[in-house]
Amino acid sequence: MKNTDARISRAPDHPATKILVIDDEPGLRQMLLFSLQKRGYDVTCAASGTEALARAAESSFDVAICDIMMPGQNGIEVLTLFKERYPATEIIIATGYATLETAIEAMKNGAFDYITKPYRLSHLCALLDKAMEHHRLIAKVDYLEEVNRLKTEFVSTMNHELRTPLTSMTGYVELLLRGAYGKIPERAREILNRIEVNAGTLLGLINNILDLSKLSAERMGLSPETFALEDLMKEVVEALEPLAKSKKLKVRYDGHKGLAVYADRTKLKQVMINLMGNAVKFTLSGHVAMSAKKGADPDDVELRFEDTGIGIAAQDIPLLFQEFKQLDSSDTRAFKGSGLGLAISKKLITLMNGTIRVESEPNKGSAFIVNVPIARQDAQGHGG
Ligand code: ADP
Repeated sequence: MKNTDARISRAPDHPATKILVIDDEPGLRQMLLFSLQKRGYDVTCAASGTEALARAAESSFDVAICDIMMPGQNGIEVLTLFKERYPATEIIIATGYATLETAIEAMKNGAFDYITKPYRLSHLCALLDKAMEHHRLIAKVDYLEEVNRLKTEFVSTMNHELRTPLTSMTGYVELLLRGAYGKIPERAREILNRIEVNAGTLLGLINNILDLSKLSAERMGLSPETFALEDLMKEVVEALEPLAKSKKLKVRYDGHKGLAVYADRTKLKQVMINLMGNAVKFTLSGHVAMSAKKGADPDDVELRFEDTGIGIAAQDIPLLFQEFKQLDSSDTRAFKGSGLGLAISKKLITLMNGTIRVESEPNKGSAFIVNVPIARQDAQGHGG
């Protein structure tokens, strides 16, 4: 079990290196205590494995220098016990020429390195520096993993806390609109409709943040199933048609008849809705189109989402898939959105082992092209 708080507070700035010298030779212990302290290390000595473990129970050590030939517990036994109880402590095994093989065994048991006795102090100090560098890197990785885990946990808890009251509010608005509490005057109905729309936008944003945090923490799994791609495309078009009609945009779509695919339908739909939704959102006149065809790889399907909209400048294309990124032209700022849709789509497509790319020209339009592997099966059993 990790001591999270200790790791988090310790990682960024490390205090004086704490060293434990474990050796049964009193002369060597004294020499190391004196010389290492003079070099700024915080040194503690132990004459045996038992004493070393007792010291480690009282205080944590960054590095231990452990003699291999000791009466009672030998160095390997001490090392094994130490690593079991205090895995973060780096251990340097000190060995005589005759026990080189044991030193190699020590490395296999988790020692950071070994040094052959008799050794020069400068050699030992160089090894201590290397061990500390390793120790700091491990602590930093642990620290960052922990921060990331806490962040994900926080985001998902917060989202839950936000979603619950929001859902209850929209529930009441819906009841009011349906007349469950009596007749609603027309003006009040308009306001309630606005509340409903805005609550829907907020819920969409919360769901996006939750998706993104799950994807970033690699906690999003896939649930593949077999389905007809054309049916899915129809659903996507149906979802976007009302908005496209209200903007007098033509919607074209060219499905691939009979192509059954094996993929995560819900997540693929989410990506398709986002790309088609953007096509509609960023197009003022003309048409939006969605098509599917077999990819260059026979196990791929290529989906294309095209529009005759405002387009994207070449220098903005690398920014598109960054989280919270909306291209900051006065044109695009006029369109609502969170800048999360494409970041999520890219992560979802990557999770499916697919790719997504863009071709675009300002004021002419854009095309988003998605290639996803599908375990291809023909619905009618012919030519896919
Ligand atoms: P949102 O649409 O919620 O702002 P997205 O991540 O889906 O977020 O898109 C990020 C940005 O990419 C948009 O704000 C817009 O500037 C640009 N963009 C996306 N799709 C298109 C498109 N089809 N045409 C023009 N610009 C687009």
